[in-house]
Amino acid sequence: MKAVCWNGAKDVRVETVPDPKILNPRDAIIKITSTAICGSDLHLYDGFIPTMEKGDILGHEFMGEVVELGSEVKNIKIGDRVVVPFTISCGNCFFCNRDLWSLCDNSNPNAWMAEKLMGHSPAGLFGYSHMLGGYAGGQAEYARVPFADVGLFKIPDGLTDDQVLFLTDIFPTGYMAAENCHIKPGDIVAVWGCGPVGQFAIKSAFLLGAERVIGIDRIPERLRLAESYSGAETINYEEADPGEVLKEMTGGRGPDAVIDAVGMEAHGTNFDAFYDRVKQAVRLETDRPTALRQVLLTCRKGGHVSIPGVYGGFLDKIPMGAAFNKGLTFKMGQTHVHKYLRPLLEHVQKGDIDPSFVITHRLPLEQAPHGYEIFKHKKDNCIKVVLKP
Ligand code: NAD
Ligand code: ZN
Repeated sequence: MKAVCWNGAKDVRVETVPDPKILNPRDAIIKITSTAICGSDLHLYDGFIPTMEKGDILGHEFMGEVVELGSEVKNIKIGDRVVVPFTISCGNCFFCNRDLWSLCDNSNPNAWMAEKLMGHSPAGLFGYSHMLGGYAGGQAEYARVPFADVGLFKIPDGLTDDQVLFLTDIFPTGYMAAENCHIKPGDIVAVWGCGPVGQFAIKSAFLLGAERVIGIDRIPERLRLAESYSGAETINYEEADPGEVLKEMTGGRGPDAVIDAVGMEAHGTNFDAFYDRVKQAVRLETDRPTALRQVLLTCRKGGHVSIPGVYGGFLDKIPMGAAFNKGLTFKMGQTHVHKYLRPLLEHVQKGDIDPSFVITHRLPLEQAPHGYEIFKHKKDNCIKVVLKP
């Protein structure tokens, strides 16, 4: 089959690789009909996630048709149309039983690697390094899905791929980010980053009852989309200091909740951003937490800080004193996708949201390297790329 393979920083290639096979009785093989490139893939593309190996198959946002089933998968049939959560979860452990699906204890065969770095291992993820399981990803013609009895979600007839593909990741991610803000009527929520995750966080904050949502970015078409699709107000951080503007907008108090939908590769114009770039380049710092610092300094006292943006390692100059003295509450992590599939599908069916609003490019799988290039550099007004095998 054809698959998108990582070959080192900024080097992805479409290669011919062996077809996946059923390895365990709870596996399924999916023939992929749609797959997308995520902001998280850019951290791999840029070489910031350790334990990638040449030839690893990328991709964790994918859906398709079931073509083969292991002997123990009884609740899914061959031919079913399914979406696949990017987090791999057993469905039976301490964490899955508490709806903490991205923290599954049984899906990372390389848990020892993650334990060395983090103390404990999170769940395995598709196409996301050997430290997180070494699973082949879904930017391919076929993929093997472990624990398929809990890891496949059947899609009812009448919905297009574009409408349901993002249930695999970015819609639940934006939604969980907003839920983690504990929004109350009248709340003002500020969202750093208007990429696909930020867009879903903004829309979800409104769905959960926020009165005003303010999106922050520097890419004009992303700011415009946040305004036109979700009704957000926006700040271009290259034109104004978001901290100052937000203070003015909130009578000096600051937003009730703040969302960092940027993560470890933040861009910045201030001295601290320059400092991060230098330290990251010489490997003295793993992440560039420019947005995270702003988020902490801007949030109102007693407010909620929600961090869907991915961080990988050790961060420098985090204003922990501000967070402590302002009594902030932190919530973060990889999304518990399984928990959100059914309620978010209902939002799509009711027409509360059409998740395809973020798609700007549909490309054949063969053009994946071009897709990575335009998504990474925001060329050609790119916001979200869907690949069609
Ligand atoms: P993206 O790269 O398209 O979007 C990031 C946006 O942040 C860009 O529009 C960029 O211009 C903007 N930005 C950069 N620096 C900024 C700054 N200092 N202030 C404000 N905006 C800034 O990626 P995406 O797909 O939207 O993903 C965003 C983050 O969410 C990534 O870190 C990704 O890894 C993460 N993510 C997490 C999960 C999860 O489970 N928690 C799932 C999916 C994605
Ligand atoms: Zn993703």
